[in-house]
Amino acid sequence: RAASSVTIPPPACMLQPLEVPTRYLFGPGPSNVSPRVLAAGGRPIIGHLHPEMYQIMNDIKKGIQYAFQTSNNMTLSMSGSGHTAMECAVFNTVEPGESVLVSINGVWGERVAEIAERMGGKVHTLVKSPGGHFTNEEIEKALAKHKPVLFFLTHGESSAGLVHPIDGIGDLCRKHNCLFLVDSVASLGAAPLLMDQQNIDILYTGSQKALNAPPGTAPISFNDRACHKMFNRKTKPVSYLLDMTHLSNYWGNDGKPARDYHHTGPVSGFFTLRESLAILAEKGLENSWRQHKEVAEYLWKGIEDLGLKLFIKDKDLRLPSVTTIAIPEGYNWRELLTYMMKHHQMEMTGGLGPSIGMVIRVGLMGYNCSKPNADKALAALADALKHCPKSKA
Ligand code: PMP
Repeated sequence: RAASSVTIPPPACMLQPLEVPTRYLFGPGPSNVSPRVLAAGGRPIIGHLHPEMYQIMNDIKKGIQYAFQTSNNMTLSMSGSGHTAMECAVFNTVEPGESVLVSINGVWGERVAEIAERMGGKVHTLVKSPGGHFTNEEIEKALAKHKPVLFFLTHGESSAGLVHPIDGIGDLCRKHNCLFLVDSVASLGAAPLLMDQQNIDILYTGSQKALNAPPGTAPISFNDRACHKMFNRKTKPVSYLLDMTHLSNYWGNDGKPARDYHHTGPVSGFFTLRESLAILAEKGLENSWRQHKEVAEYLWKGIEDLGLKLFIKDKDLRLPSVTTIAIPEGYNWRELLTYMMKHHQMEMTGGLGPSIGMVIRVGLMGYNCSKPNADKALAALADALKHCPKSKA
């Protein structure tokens, strides 16, 4: 019998309009974004290989170079979230059997270790409990011992609320002939980071945090050392989609006269990314860093005035974009979060990976980064503390 008629009817939900609530996204991301960025996403679609799109991609490249403080030619955006950039960095620079050193002080190192393991890397880890950080001596000892081709560090550890010192580590990696890979998904635009001056070989970020665009794109940059390693490999990277030989052509970075079709980039996502990078360029990086720090300090004081404790004791190690509060004794953190969502339409979140059950996370990033929003977050927290019955445990 020939297949001739549909047997599955249109689902009832699809005959209803799209419903999206208005919420305060005061967790670790995504963040609320400005009307200007939202409007950019509503512009007409153009072809991913049209000259106007190439111009927009060229602008994005310039915007990323500014945000990262790099003159690297090999600068582009991934078509995908922060994880796409994590995989792209590892897949392209590591060959199966090569040694990789991953620092783990929260969930992001755990993820990168797993990514490197899955593609056949020989993974070594440096581990601290969430909120811990590594001294340059500890890092150098591990570099000397494991002789990795790649060392991974998270700049803004959003699961722990820690901003990791970077100075000097890039030099150690050079001394030990290793590439320095840094995750700035949660910190870019919120805490100082200077790719070229700090000798970071590969840097990536995400769109949906302090950079303040919708989720779905992820800027990344490779310097000449990283390019030399990834373009002189013996084996092809395991991923076709994330192969930098193709992506560098798509972004016009390989010096060839034509860009060939590789994949269809997220056209609207690139519009919004361009707009968020434009807002950062207009505001200035230093002003953005200052704004995030000032609002974070205001929030930290308010949190302590509520009688709560900050999870990261040392002020200089606190991530300005994502603040972690130690879960107050006797409270059930899930109840507090549920209360704030129900009564304040406000998202804050619990921990992630090894910090689950340790912290509540509050993020005031980009468009959300203001003292009136900090006051709203503090009022919601105060209200939740008042109304959530203390657990019996
Ligand atoms: N690294 C860090 C530090 C992050 O905070 C996040 C997102 N929470 C990621 C990586 C992963 O990004 P995404 O969810 O966009 O894949």
